[in-house]
Amino acid sequence: MARLNPVRGTHDILPDDNRRYRRVEETAYDVAGLYGFGEITTPVFEFTEVFSRTLGDTSDIVTKEMYTFEDRGGDLITLRPEGTAGIVRALISNGLQQDLPLKLFYRGPMFRYERPQKGRWREFRQVGIELLGVAAPIADIETIALAQQILSELGLADKVTLELNSLGDTESRAAYRDKLVAYLKQHESKLSEDSRMRLERNPLRILDSKDEGDRAIIADAPRLNDSLNEASRTFFDDVCTGLDDLGIPYEINPKLVRGLDYYCHTAFEFTTNELGAQGTVLAGGRYDGLSKQMGGPEAPGVGWAAGVERLSLLVDEGEAVPGPIAVIPMGDAAQRFAMTLTQKLRGKGFSVELGYSGNLGKRMKRADKLGACAAILIGDDELNRGSGTVRDMVTGEQSEVSWDAMEEHLARYR
Ligand code: ATP
Ligand code: MG
Repeated sequence: MARLNPVRGTHDILPDDNRRYRRVEETAYDVAGLYGFGEITTPVFEFTEVFSRTLGDTSDIVTKEMYTFEDRGGDLITLRPEGTAGIVRALISNGLQQDLPLKLFYRGPMFRYERPQKGRWREFRQVGIELLGVAAPIADIETIALAQQILSELGLADKVTLELNSLGDTESRAAYRDKLVAYLKQHESKLSEDSRMRLERNPLRILDSKDEGDRAIIADAPRLNDSLNEASRTFFDDVCTGLDDLGIPYEINPKLVRGLDYYCHTAFEFTTNELGAQGTVLAGGRYDGLSKQMGGPEAPGVGWAAGVERLSLLVDEGEAVPGPIAVIPMGDAAQRFAMTLTQKLRGKGFSVELGYSGNLGKRMKRADKLGACAAILIGDDELNRGSGTVRDMVTGEQSEVSWDAMEEHLARYR
């Protein structure tokens, strides 16, 4: 017997959910268009190195979460866990460096082997943007402003908080790393196993630990902000001033570090209190070294990604779409005529439902269930008279309308 349940952590997206997902994705796409971002679609799978070389050997994604397999040709392939690495790969493979700066929007499924829970799936969808080729803070400000406008247009402005931090440049992070390691070494025995492993290889990630014991130790750790050199400090101040100018509220969170190794300077997250532990709906930052690290050109970048499922849990249905017009024939002749009428009305842009079977009562019930705005009743009498009875499903009012006048009469239900 085949196993008929979906694989753990995957789900079927039924029409109601798809409507909400679409609303999230289309809103993001439309607003990104206002900022001059065009859509890029990269493959859902890439050579494993695209991710393993860039995300860092110690990131959760590379160590625990990737779906990796050898294909029939013997190549090592990974289902993409995130969008940025593939897009920078595309920049290099397509020789797009002469087109910099590039503004790219993307959407689509991502895959991570994680423990499934509310707002956390193994296959999930993201929308995101990347702004490549601009090293100045204006790019950070603009990408954050874009995120803010998308969330506002989804009606979430009051439900989310923008948290902001600076990871500084390479020099600042190196200085901080030394201070942090010195501090954490004093508490090494009390750190979680994961964090002890990261102590040598990627100590900054410990700041991101969700382990209770770790968190207590981290609370008193030296702060990254205190290690920022002059240039990094100025960069961060410029980002903050830009957000102030635009009236975008934010909270500085000195503990905010991004999970991936390639980030520098600005790191940010939009978080909510309404989704329990999965409170981050949109996250991003600056990644100036990534392109070079992949063997590509100098291409500083800043971008973010948002979880479509998590956003969808927060947004409402949006404007109610008017229900369809139900065409309800009675009798064989009427049935045939109804099919023609239905097609004609659909051709004119009306949404029309043709009841498939059953008596009048049953078909009316179905029309009700579909939220029909009107029903056109067609029996032999109507056929003979060249008209149909149009019933307004809200008021219950009925009127007989000739076929010639039908389109005009129905205009109100568009
Ligand atoms: P988290 O800390 O929740 O694991 P993350 O830091 O791994 O998030 P990112 O890699 O920054 O997440 O991805 C950007 C966004 O994608 C997240 O803020 C979240 O909204 C969404 N996301 C990440 N992983 C999942 C998942 N497994 N299921 C659903 N959405 C996800
Ligand atoms: Mg994660």
